[in-house]
Amino acid sequence: MNRLSKVFRPFNNEQKSIFNLSKLSKEETEVNGYKLLNNYGLIRPSANGLFYLLPMGYRVIQKLSKLIDHNMSLIGAQKMQSPLLIKESLWKNDETLIDERDDLYVITDRTKNHFVLSPTHEESFADLLSHEQLSYRNFPLLLYQITPKFRDEFRPKLGLLRSKEFIMKDLYSFDIDEENARKTYDKVTAAYQKIFTALNVPYFINSCEKDSKSIISHEYYYSCDRGDDKLYTCGVCHSICGASLLKDRTLCPNCSYTLKPEWYNNGVEVAHTFYFGTRYSDRLKSMYVDKDGKKKPLHMCSYGIGISRIFSAVVELLSTPKELRWSPCIAPYTVCVIPPKDGSRDEIRVEMIMPELYSLLESIPNLKDDVIIDDRPDKTIGGRLRDAKACGFSFIIVAGKDATKNTPLFELYDLYNDKKYLMPRSTLLHYLVDRTKYLSEEKEKIGYLS
Ligand SMILES: [Zn+2]
Repeated sequence: MNRLSKVFRPFNNEQKSIFNLSKLSKEETEVNGYKLLNNYGLIRPSANGLFYLLPMGYRVIQKLSKLIDHNMSLIGAQKMQSPLLIKESLWKNDETLIDERDDLYVITDRTKNHFVLSPTHEESFADLLSHEQLSYRNFPLLLYQITPKFRDEFRPKLGLLRSKEFIMKDLYSFDIDEENARKTYDKVTAAYQKIFTALNVPYFINSCEKDSKSIISHEYYYSCDRGDDKLYTCGVCHSICGASLLKDRTLCPNCSYTLKPEWYNNGVEVAHTFYFGTRYSDRLKSMYVDKDGKKKPLHMCSYGIGISRIFSAVVELLSTPKELRWSPCIAPYTVCVIPPKDGSRDEIRVEMIMPELYSLLESIPNLKDDVIIDDRPDKTIGGRLRDAKACGFSFIIVAGKDATKNTPLFELYDLYNDKKYLMPRSTLLHYLVDRTKYLSEEKEKIGYLS
């Protein structure tokens, strides 16, 4: 049984403010989502730009990872893990690459060898394949990982929106030629759109033109006042453009209309995909043997999703000033049950029906290990209800006075539908079966909030 009393979730009381902590930058103390995550014990700062993900916050990261894993398995991507420390030579032999980045953590080991704590792993995965004997039959090959990444931010800020260490899912695809690589690219892009649709937060895709580094790339943004990225939303054709890509131009790249200042807004980049052609394979000699027996360079794409960034961006975008809100599919727990206060008159009678209710809830197909009982002994029902709403649990069941009747009745708060009911157990269970269908991994259309 998941019991809230056993969860390490230190609350900050509002009086003992977090604002005195020297670990936080001024911006962080002003970010609402960050304050809520910290106040309700989902994260803690460790040092400037570095954070602990506490158990309740880590559950959200795990749910995001599961959503991604599911969609990756549908397109045949294989999960693995590369070392986080990458030998510097992989970066070094591209003089442009290492010179243009001043945000790499480079460390020296006891034998004076240098390693990069990598922010991205194109080199690492291309190097892996360069040492294998691979034929055209081995492709397409899609490999991905979900691991911490590192960036020596000059000015880390906004909590997990711009931190020195972050969790990213990165996928690398390898194909025998451009035509196949583009097919793979489209397949992964479609999977990304399914992931973002499931998260049910409006997102924008910015398609980037050919530049010196890659042939095709797409950036995924959430529109967010606190975001660091600048966006233009064209008022004529409604296409989105990253302001960094506009450089000195003021024309919409799509319809060539002159962009107006009022079309400018802030965004957070949450994913980025690239088609690189043979850029990495040429340099690192990632080859395969073709039908004609000749060695040829592989065509490579990479695809990143910022998991810890989505975690904090979703909170920033959906929460109220006092309460955390999530995309329902990543709420830390979907159901929270609140029994009577310890030692109260109702406690003994409800205590008898509680284990059965809990196991019935857990047996709902989409609720396995997604139900928690708030059994904290020192809190009233009202206090726990406030906490449960503040944490953004999707459904809150209160077993109070009405649960002691001959036919027990339960209060149900459907948080994301803003509804409250009083219902007997069977109705409650049917309601939850129906309303948690959005969690089903088979279901591709969500429409839960609509
Ligand atoms: Zn336009």
